Amino acid sequence: MTDWVGREEGPGGDRASVREAFSLLAHDIRLDIVLALLENWAAVCTEPQSYSDLMDAVGMRDSGKFNYHLDKLRGVYVEQVEDGYVPTASAVALYRTVLAHRPTETTTEAGELDEPCPHCGGTLVEQYERSFFTLDCTDCDSWELLTYVFPRNGLRDRTGRERYRAVESRADYHTGLARTGQCPFCAGPVTFHFDPEDVEGTPPLVGMTCDICTWHVDVTLLTPLRFVPRVAAALLDLGIEPPVIEADTIVEMTGEIRSEEPFRVALDVTSEAGTVTVVADDDLVVQSVEVTVE
Ligand SMILES: [Zn+2]
Ligand SMILES: [Zn+2]
Repeated sequence: MTDWVGREEGPGGDRASVREAFSLLAHDIRLDIVLALLENWAAVCTEPQSYSDLMDAVGMRDSGKFNYHLDKLRGVYVEQVEDGYVPTASAVALYRTVLAHRPTETTTEAGELDEPCPHCGGTLVEQYERSFFTLDCTDCDSWELLTYVFPRNGLRDRTGRERYRAVESRADYHTGLARTGQCPFCAGPVTFHFDPEDVEGTPPLVGMTCDICTWHVDVTLLTPLRFVPRVAAALLDLGIEPPVIEADTIVEMTGEIRSEEPFRVALDVTSEAGTVTVVADDDLVVQSVEVTVE
């Protein structure tokens, strides 16, 4: 089986165990047990709950029945440790995800922003759909300024520029982590894709895909590379500072695949002060950084 990002076995490979995990929660007593463990959860700062405390917390007297349901949850949502019971990482992750994406009063309609596009002074339009925040300019060419999955909760107290900066910052740091070969969501291995058309596009792009979960992004080559200290230092020499969307000091970015064996991709970032040339391999490990001053 090959999915849309070309993985041989996607998350669907574990369908039976995923199905079992979700179906376990379709029972009041089991749900009460999981929530009793999660509601005051603060990671290692939380003491495990003893068998009897947990039984009290869910208001049960029938030990046989309680034990039957606790046993079903064991390993999937509940872990037995020396002093009692704690939620598993999977239970905590699910709980956090529900909190982060729960419905709120946040406006999710497409709307025009009050501030102008930092590139061209045009009109900025934001949209939130299918958990993706998108920022577009009505006057810049084709390329969306920003689109990334963002928890609805994060939009609640932010407006206008604060919103897109929050989304950009989240996307940037995730991408910076992914450059080290680690998925920001599941810690699985990340594969990089260098499609010559994308690399030579405006702006030059690299694809990043997690081999385990469904995380995938196409980002400018600059976004992950700027987390490498010597690249950041070289950019700063030419007055280029993140966030990238508002880096109006960037005049031009061009990319090129310099060689296939060994694989080398080059990125030129030009400001009025000069050009930074970064050469990286197929793992986005930086091979060289050169600064040419105008
Ligand atoms: Zn614009
Ligand atoms: Zn992943």
